Amino acid sequence: MKRLLVPVAIFVLVQRTEAANSSPVAESYKAVADKLIAAALTDNHATDRLEYLCDRIGNRLSGSASLERAIEWAAAEMRSAGLSNVQIPPVKVPHWVRGKESAVMLKPIERPLRMIGLGMSVGTLPEGITADVVPAENPEKLASLGRDAVAGKIVLFTADADEKTYRTPGYRQAVTVGPSRAAALGAVAVLVKSGFILQNPRTTGLDPYDPGIPKIPAAAVSVEDALMMQRLVARGTPVRARLAMEAHQEPDADSHNVMGELRGRERPEEVVVVGGHIDSWDVGQGANDDGSGMMASLEAVLLIKRLGLQPRRTIRVVFWVNEENGGAGGRAYRAIIGNDVGHHIAAIEMDNGAEKPVGFSFGAADQDKKTPRAFARAVEIGTLLKGIGGGAITPRGGSGGDLRSLTADGVPGFAVKTVETLYPNWHHTHADTFDKIVLREFQLNVASLAVMSYVLADMPERFSDLK
Ligand SMILES: [Zn+2]
Repeated sequence: MKRLLVPVAIFVLVQRTEAANSSPVAESYKAVADKLIAAALTDNHATDRLEYLCDRIGNRLSGSASLERAIEWAAAEMRSAGLSNVQIPPVKVPHWVRGKESAVMLKPIERPLRMIGLGMSVGTLPEGITADVVPAENPEKLASLGRDAVAGKIVLFTADADEKTYRTPGYRQAVTVGPSRAAALGAVAVLVKSGFILQNPRTTGLDPYDPGIPKIPAAAVSVEDALMMQRLVARGTPVRARLAMEAHQEPDADSHNVMGELRGRERPEEVVVVGGHIDSWDVGQGANDDGSGMMASLEAVLLIKRLGLQPRRTIRVVFWVNEENGGAGGRAYRAIIGNDVGHHIAAIEMDNGAEKPVGFSFGAADQDKKTPRAFARAVEIGTLLKGIGGGAITPRGGSGGDLRSLTADGVPGFAVKTVETLYPNWHHTHADTFDKIVLREFQLNVASLAVMSYVLADMPERFSDLK
C-alpha cells in the first residue's frame, strides 16, 4: 500500500501545480477560443454592416427618424442572420433637437467661433445672447470670482482636458453641472473648452438643469478658440461674444431596444448579455460610438453560431437605445427582464471605440473584491485572448452606461477596454465616421467579445455564482 501511495501523491501534486499555472477553464476552452479568434480575423460581416449603418442610415440621436430606421434595420439583420426571439421592446426616449447654432466673437475682433451645442441644452432667442466672456477653470473657481464678476456674462470654462480627457474632473463638471452652477451666479450662457485640438469641438449630454435655477444655454467651443479668448482676457482685453442656438426639447418619443438570441443548449433560461448602444449623437456617423460596439457584439455571436457552437446558456445580443442622453434603454431592459435578472450570468458592453482591444474592465464599485473568485475566473478566461493582446482584466469600470441597472442588481459586468489612442479625438464629434475604423482592430474586438461571451455562457458553473 505504501508503495502505491507515493505515485498517487505525486500525481495529485502535479495536477494541482498545473491547475495553478494554466487554469482548467482556460485549458478546456483553448481550442474553441483559437477557432473563434481565427474566424473573427477573416470576417468582414461586422465592418460591412457598420459601413451600411454609417453611410446609409447615419447618426442616430434619440427621437430622430434615422434612429428608428436603424432599429428596424438592426432587427431585420438579426432575423436574417438567424438569431431567435428577435424583439424590439418599446422605450420612451427624450427628444432633444439641436437646430441651427453658431457663436461669434465680436470684440476685440470679429470672427466666428468653432462651437457645438451641448446635448439637452436650452436654446437662445433668435437674436442670440450677446455678452462679455468671463473665463474660469471650473465651477468652483467660478464661484470664487463672486456674483458681481459673473452676472450677465457668458462663462467660459477652461478646465484642461488632456488625454482621455473627457473624463477629467474639471472638464466633466463643466459639461455636466457647469451651466446650473454658472446660472446660479447670474451667468447668461456657458461655453466649455473642448478636450481636443484641430478645431473639432465635442458635444456631450448635460446633467438635468437644477430646478429653481434659470436654464441657460451651453455649448462647447474648440480648444483653439477657447485658448484665444482666455489669452485675450488674461491680457486685460475684454472679449464679447454672441451665442445663438435653436436647441429645444420636444415631447418624449417612441423608440425601442433591439434584442435577439442564440439559445442555450442546456440552460436556455440563463443569459449572458452582450451588446452596445444603438443611439448616437447627431453629429458624425456614430461609427466608433457606438455603431462599432453593436456590430461587433452581433458578429461575435453570429461567429459562434456559424462555427456550429451552441453554448450551454443563451447569449442575448442587446442594442440599447438612448445611452447618450438619458439612459432610458438600459433602464427599460432592466424593467422588462424583471425577476429574470437572477438568471443573468454576466453582461458585456462594448462602448469605448473600436481601436485595438486590451481587455475588459470588470465589475462595479469594489465588486472584484466582493467576488474574488469571479474576478479570478475572468482573468483565466482573459488568458485565452493573450495571443491577440486583448485579455487583460482590470477591476472596476464594468458597470458603465447601459449595464448600470444590471450591475446594481448584482449581475457581473464587463466593459471592453481599448487602447483609446485616437478615439478621444473623434468621440462625440463630426469626426466619428466610418473611415476611422481599422479593419484588423475591429476584428480583434469581435474576437475578444466572441471568446468572452462564449466561455461565460458555456462554462459548467454559473459565472454569477462565483463569489
Ligand atoms: Zn457610447
